[in-house]
Amino acid sequence: MPLRFRLLLILFVSFAVVGRHGHTLEPSGKATDYERLKKEIVSDFSQSHPHEWGETVSGVKTRLDTEERVIALTFDACGSKGDGYDSALIDYLIRENVPATLFMNARWIDKNPETFKKLAGNDLFEIENHGMEHKPCSVNGKSVYGIDGTKSPAEVVDEIEKNARKIEALTGRRPKYYRSGTAYYDEVAVKIAGTLGYEVVGFSVLGDRGASYSEEEVKNAFLSAGPGSIIIAHMNHPEKDTAEGVMAAIPELKRRGFIFVKLDGYGLK
Ligand SMILES: [Zn+2]
Repeated sequence: MPLRFRLLLILFVSFAVVGRHGHTLEPSGKATDYERLKKEIVSDFSQSHPHEWGETVSGVKTRLDTEERVIALTFDACGSKGDGYDSALIDYLIRENVPATLFMNARWIDKNPETFKKLAGNDLFEIENHGMEHKPCSVNGKSVYGIDGTKSPAEVVDEIEKNARKIEALTGRRPKYYRSGTAYYDEVAVKIAGTLGYEVVGFSVLGDRGASYSEEEVKNAFLSAGPGSIIIAHMNHPEKDTAEGVMAAIPELKRRGFIFVKLDGYGLK
């Protein structure tokens, strides 16, 4: 091969392997690249000690950065033992042409492969990352609601990045947002998510409190939303009242002049 073609080739390959934030990524997420990325992050964060623990620690985004009358609906698919698929809820959103962001855990995806494919193929929905094992996101093993968090920066990388790559492999689109199982974090773990290239998304309206609210409580929670609100609720408990509450609230929110949007396309704050 002539020298200048060889140089061009080297240049092209160099561009192809340099990922975001200067971390070296190969295009299709090969194991070697993964281990290298993990090692770099472990070394970058080995001396970082967290001081915050909760749902709204430093770095977690809870609202859309706008005063427009728009609301982002977000539904978590947790994949915990015994959970399912709330088709009444999702069918309603499709029927009413209401967009939503779906935070999906790897276990839920594995249990519902056909549904996942259908939802990922529907432009109304944006598929985002709800973690590999649905763990609270901690660098030192903090737990909440009796659920153990990740125990180290290495485990934080595994929890976030493995499911992101799984979703990318299945959909061709790399997720942009991450919400941990339980939505709990320390601020160092949130920084690690940022270094991996993801924004951490909390919420400003607690829509169904882990699918435990009655229809009336869900409705009232949703109706408390204002311009730029991010509402969290669940799509994995068809036996609970979330769908009924959502169906009662959405027509009223529309009457109040609200438009529903996906997260992507808005700045978050
Ligand atoms: Zn969850």
